[in-house]
Amino acid sequence: MFFSLWKDCSRIISLLKNVFGEFMSKVIEYLRENQESAVSILVDYLKFPSISTTNHPGLEKSVNFLSKLMNESGIDTSILSTDGIPVVYGELLKDKDLPTLLIYGHYDVQPAEIKEGWSNDPFDPVIRNGKIYARGSGDNKGQHLAQILAVRAYKQIGEELPINIKFLIEGEEEMGSPNLGKFVSENKELLKADIACSSDGSIHPSGCPTLALGCRGLLYVELRHNGVNKDLHSGTYGGALASPFWRLLDAIKTLRDSESGKVLIPGFYDQVLPLGQADLDILNSIPNPKSELEIVLGENVDRISNVDSFYESTLTKPNFNICGFQGGYSQDGMKTIIPGIAIAKLDFRLVVDQDPDSIFEDLCEFLANSGFDDIEVKKMAIFKPSKTPADNPFVEKIVQTLLCYSKETLVYPNFGGSVPDVLFTKEMKIPSVWFPLANADTNSHGPDENLDLDLFHRGSELAVHLIEGIYT
Ligand SMILES: [Zn+2]
Repeated sequence: MFFSLWKDCSRIISLLKNVFGEFMSKVIEYLRENQESAVSILVDYLKFPSISTTNHPGLEKSVNFLSKLMNESGIDTSILSTDGIPVVYGELLKDKDLPTLLIYGHYDVQPAEIKEGWSNDPFDPVIRNGKIYARGSGDNKGQHLAQILAVRAYKQIGEELPINIKFLIEGEEEMGSPNLGKFVSENKELLKADIACSSDGSIHPSGCPTLALGCRGLLYVELRHNGVNKDLHSGTYGGALASPFWRLLDAIKTLRDSESGKVLIPGFYDQVLPLGQADLDILNSIPNPKSELEIVLGENVDRISNVDSFYESTLTKPNFNICGFQGGYSQDGMKTIIPGIAIAKLDFRLVVDQDPDSIFEDLCEFLANSGFDDIEVKKMAIFKPSKTPADNPFVEKIVQTLLCYSKETLVYPNFGGSVPDVLFTKEMKIPSVWFPLANADTNSHGPDENLDLDLFHRGSELAVHLIEGIYT
């Protein structure tokens, strides 16, 4: 009893010393001394082409590598089947009365071939100027591996974790996680946790540690108007036969008010919840992004109508976007045709509590009621929006922990993009936060995807701070 109390007190003292930068915990010391072996584990992991969209044999190799590594790291790990590609599940349970942290990640990657513009074979990692170049380095193998290595460090130095920890590493994220929802709903007891902390995406371009409390949702649709199904001479038929694009554009124009930009689908904004005071405070504390935007956009930054409200617009409000058109002629030069078919790809970014499925139904009904029942509407993908309130006690703890780690930590009410966060917040009903570890120029999904190795190591250290921060 005395020993346990003493151990608990010494932990708190260690943490306080960490906070003031006077003492480096043994775990972090171990991580710093073993950065080379951490990188060699990362190199081995990145060699497997675990491409989910083609069901590549590299998936199985990744699963076996990951489960062996996790088991060796003291995490009791199994490979669990889903209706698709299996998940790797691991747990390290100390005491049911202690808090339980759930970490999500994905071991699958996007396809990559050297001919797409890579400087090296995407599955033969190369280190240049402190960055490792390989498919999956930033998205997402390097990110969840950093956390696994943090847990491994506790075992290597014979220190026990102060909390329970669970890992859920899926293999279908790059396909839109089609089977994860069912897996989570059927395994709620197994996955039961007090908070989910996951890493995906990029940090702020300034290099500050970044934390996001949720994500926007997504409804991606394709609108199609069939013309005569073959391209015709616009001199011979023009005037008698209209381009199917006119009809498609007329339909799209009914969806949006041209002055305000507001979406005109009835009920679209009904479920948009106002931000609470804690979220507003967070939003207002994000520095003005003008200088970062200038790096990306140059003088085109002026095209952003209001830079001061950039984060308000991109994080807390829904948006309707035309991604592109397909059909007819759009190559260089010219070709005078009436297209045989017209297709538009549209995306709606959604905020809490908009439901992409019911908005899709409303969109179909609205177009039909507006006389556009000849337009085919196809649902391509959905992600539900999700958010954890900033005043949740676990979130407050984590924000404080990160602020102690680095005074420059940036906290966002949520991501502008979409991740399967809703499975934690709605299905499991637990708070969920995301702390991306990859550099801003990680170039995930593109050629020369890379991960800054300093950030990889920082990810392991951050995980230690989170583990200790959740405990206190
Ligand atoms: Zn991805």
